[in-house]
Amino acid sequence: MALTPAPKAIRRCPICKSETVHAYQPFCSKRCADIDLGKWFNNSYAIPGAPDDDEAEKLIESGGDEDDRVS
Ligand SMILES: [Zn+2]
Repeated sequence: MALTPAPKAIRRCPICKSETVHAYQPFCSKRCADIDLGKWFNNSYAIPGAPDDDEAEKLIESGGDEDDRVS
């Protein structure tokens, strides 16, 4: 067995810099996790000049026809 105790490395929440909680890693709480998730969400849904957004959503809803795509 190679169970060596991990070096003491306290990870900090990227949002509020508090000590992280295992259940919410790499964050300290659900609140901070939600804040980070919200950032990602806003980024991926607020891309300027992305006219293909509707197109992509339709593909997903219709089950996606991959055969239609020629590259
Ligand atoms: Zn936090």
